[in-house]
Amino acid sequence: MKICISCGMPMTKAEDYPLKDESKDYCIYCARTDGSLQSFEEKKEGMSEFLMRTQGIDRAVAHKTAEEFMKKQPAWENYFDTV
Ligand SMILES: [Zn+2]
Repeated sequence: MKICISCGMPMTKAEDYPLKDESKDYCIYCARTDGSLQSFEEKKEGMSEFLMRTQGIDRAVAHKTAEEFMKKQPAWENYFDTV
């Protein structure tokens, strides 16, 4: 079993992978419709929408929360060194 490098979700079945491609290291929720990994900003926005919807927090707080979470994921941990 692999764990998504972008969001930490365990990927247990083919449906969890982009285009059911189990060679990918990230999950379907972190992929674009063509199967490529979303950019940091795209993923942050998507995760923020999710947080606002499920936790009822405002956009600024959701962005901050999403960013803090993503910083700990392997796909993004070096992102802040390069900007
Ligand atoms: Zn993911």
